[in-house]
Amino acid sequence: GGGRWTLLDEEVRTRARRALRLVADLREALARGAVDVHYQPVVQPGRPARLRSVEALCRWTHPELGPVRPDVFIELAERANLVPVLDSHVLQVACRDLASWRSAQAAGDLAVSPEHVAVNVSAVSLSAEGFADGVRRVVAAAGLQLSDLCLEVTETALASDLRACRQVLEELRADGVRVAIDDFGTGYSSLAYLTDLPVDHLKVDRSFVRDLRSTTGPARAVAAAVVSLARTLGLGVVAEGVETLEQDAVISDLGCEAVQGYLYSRPLPREALLDVLRSGG
Ligand code: C2E
Ligand code: CA
Ligand code: CA
Ligand code: CA
Repeated sequence: GGGRWTLLDEEVRTRARRALRLVADLREALARGAVDVHYQPVVQPGRPARLRSVEALCRWTHPELGPVRPDVFIELAERANLVPVLDSHVLQVACRDLASWRSAQAAGDLAVSPEHVAVNVSAVSLSAEGFADGVRRVVAAAGLQLSDLCLEVTETALASDLRACRQVLEELRADGVRVAIDDFGTGYSSLAYLTDLPVDHLKVDRSFVRDLRSTTGPARAVAAAVVSLARTLGLGVVAEGVETLEQDAVISDLGCEAVQGYLYSRPLPREALLDVLRSGG
């Protein structure tokens, strides 16, 4: 009835208004550099586990609404064309932080520092004019090498604008940047593209790791296939979202050399990560 439509209309309008306000607030937060970066360790499994690298993950705390989930504000950012600004902000912060850990380690204040920092890049960022030069500039300004950086891209990102993305990745990779395919196995593209993409490692999506409960079963078969595919192609593998000892055991058993997940560490604020680096990971 009429009343219901009015209500729905109102609801839609309220939601639209809320989204618009969030976008405006996000734009403002980015301009102030108020979007934070947390770091999740990627480790070589074993006892003790050894820290390999860290992944930079953006975090936004809204002044009134509190923490906003990354997938929520990234979707908003996508619609408002703010993703390149977000990605470039995270890249700058991550490079600056890695440089500071490196010098702290050289000064003897930290036991370890990450081999590299991984940053997520959306397809829009990757295919934007001047992306490669921007990356070079930021890395050089921080006093780092391009090999200190890993770019994580999704299959979907690669499929959406394959030619442009491939060219940019090839160029950067020739200069030392590492490239990872994120959420591997969740995209729609065929596996054939793997053989001619400029890629260093695959990140097995959390959804496959979640179902790893025993040394048999379909989830294990998928994980085993990905690990062996990667090995055949000469690529590294990172298992994402390892939460339990059972999953960890299956993953190690498959010969996966790097894992990331709550079992080892949640994404940490800069200060908390420093404690990890001080104590040696
Ligand atoms: P992602 O790149 O796949 O990042 C891994 C996500 O898995 C992170 O969620 C992390 O907190 C979560 N995670 C890690 N280990 C576990 C685990 O053991 N269990 C569970 N349940 N979750 C785990 P987060 O931080 O919420 O990020 C969500 C997504 O947002 C990321 O997925 C990435 O696609 C995107 N994102 C984050 N930061 C950026 C950024 O700076 N730029 C862009 N373009 N995207 C970003
Ligand atoms: Ca990622
Ligand atoms: Ca992922
Ligand atoms: Ca994901």
